[in-house]
Amino acid sequence: QQKAVIVGAGIAGIATAIRLAVKGYAVQVVEANSYPGGKLSEIELQGYRFDAGPSLFTMPQYVTELFQLASKNPADYFSYQKLDVVCKYFYEDGTQINAYADTKAFAGEIQNKTGEPAASIIKYLANSRDIYNITNHVFLERSLHRLQTFLRWDTLRSVFRFPQIDPFRTMHRANSKSFADARVVQFFDRYATYNGSNPYQAPATLNVIPHLEHHFGAYFPERGMYNITQSLVKLAEGLGVQFNYNSKVDEVVVINGIAKGIRTKGENIIANLVISNMDVWFTYKKLLSKYPKLHPQKTLNQERSSSALIFYWGVNKVFPQLNLHNIFFSADYKAEFEHIWQQQDIYHDPTVYINISSKYKTDDAPDGCENWFVMINVPANNGQDWDQLIAGARENIQQKLSRILGEDIAPLIACETILDPRSIESKTSSYKGSIYGTSSNNQFAAFLRHANRSSKINGLYFCGGSVHPGGGIPLCLLSAKIISEMVPNGTQT
Ligand code: FAD
Repeated sequence: QQKAVIVGAGIAGIATAIRLAVKGYAVQVVEANSYPGGKLSEIELQGYRFDAGPSLFTMPQYVTELFQLASKNPADYFSYQKLDVVCKYFYEDGTQINAYADTKAFAGEIQNKTGEPAASIIKYLANSRDIYNITNHVFLERSLHRLQTFLRWDTLRSVFRFPQIDPFRTMHRANSKSFADARVVQFFDRYATYNGSNPYQAPATLNVIPHLEHHFGAYFPERGMYNITQSLVKLAEGLGVQFNYNSKVDEVVVINGIAKGIRTKGENIIANLVISNMDVWFTYKKLLSKYPKLHPQKTLNQERSSSALIFYWGVNKVFPQLNLHNIFFSADYKAEFEHIWQQQDIYHDPTVYINISSKYKTDDAPDGCENWFVMINVPANNGQDWDQLIAGARENIQQKLSRILGEDIAPLIACETILDPRSIESKTSSYKGSIYGTSSNNQFAAFLRHANRSSKINGLYFCGGSVHPGGGIPLCLLSAKIISEMVPNGTQT
């Protein structure tokens, strides 16, 4: 039996472990933290529970297929429900929009609240679907770095339809042409932030993202987002995968250009395959520091995605006007993104996202209270004075929310903990604390992301948000799938 060792128990590392175990490998996952999940973990604070990172769950089929692959019934491990209202939006001018999952209801809501014709929304979503159909199997589901992807008929057909994916305009420009109402443009521009990009720079191809949310839907795992991690670890353990926690990997052992295993706690673990779920930048800089000539400098120098600042607040009150996902838009979106990307600081009026899992999972907060996950997009860590920026942001966010909700929220905050770009970097080894690996701020980004297999070191593979096809839970799960399709069966000798 062949052996695979995986560096990191992030969601992609766990999914890769499951796929390789099903393929006959003996799999060992070596994780630096005392818990699995990486960014997809949880926090307990004075009777409140918070999902620490991801809060929006899309494309659940990529999770359930892992149970099916292992011939298990997904419902025995993991359950989730579809949201009727994906997200509630609040604007400074008093407009409130419920983004209904149902397309007609959603288009009708936009027309009622903004005057933008429902037909424009339906047309826009149809275009979003077309981009998905052209790009999905080329850019997401397969390796972009193997000739055979490009020799397939469906890939060639997509290449002929390339202009239709709108790669040469920015998202904002395309959205401004699609809609007359500035609130609707802002609504659709926000999807750039789903992979940590800037709608004023990112190609309009990213207007595919609304299709994922509005066609495939948004979901809530009944036991919270962290249950995705927990249930997949349980599945992996049942397949014989061995997890070693509190075990930082220091080196990938390379002999004659072939990855032979890893080094942790002063010992070597020998394996036929090494898969790094660690951010690809740190994999080269820390685990392969002896081989600078093998570092793909151009790939590693790609611009990083944005990061996040999160206040986890235990709130002493229930707000019936809030939903599971809520957005409070800034009044000037362009200025906000200029601060994130050009000035590299925090705009005084940021767009605020609040996730309240206790709306669905009531035991996440004490009776009469709510667990607020309050997040804004911020630049990646370039050594800014974060303590000062965070103090200013806290004040501005509290004022904004109090203004829009019509109630002073500061006295309602019973407890607080914070995650910022520095702690994201130190807790999960993500270079600069970026949350989605590299940004998608230009039309070549998809091609410049690191491949799932090393072209210079045999037997070395990469999964997770910093490599192809990109960040976010669904794409991380696809990186695991691509790897499993590249490697031979583990029972081969
Ligand atoms: P990571 O989660 O980055 O984990 C990597 C693991 O490797 C960690 O456990 C780390 O400890 C371990 N490791 C690193 N170095 C070593 C070493 N030397 N030795 C051993 N172990 C090591 N995605 C969504 O789909 N929806 C969302 O709503 C969403 N919101 C987000 C909000 C926030 C605040 C953040 C931070 C992320 C969000 N994301 C969201 C993105 C999503 O969380 C990530 O894309 C995904 O979880 C990354 O998974 P990964 O497999 O790449 O590994």
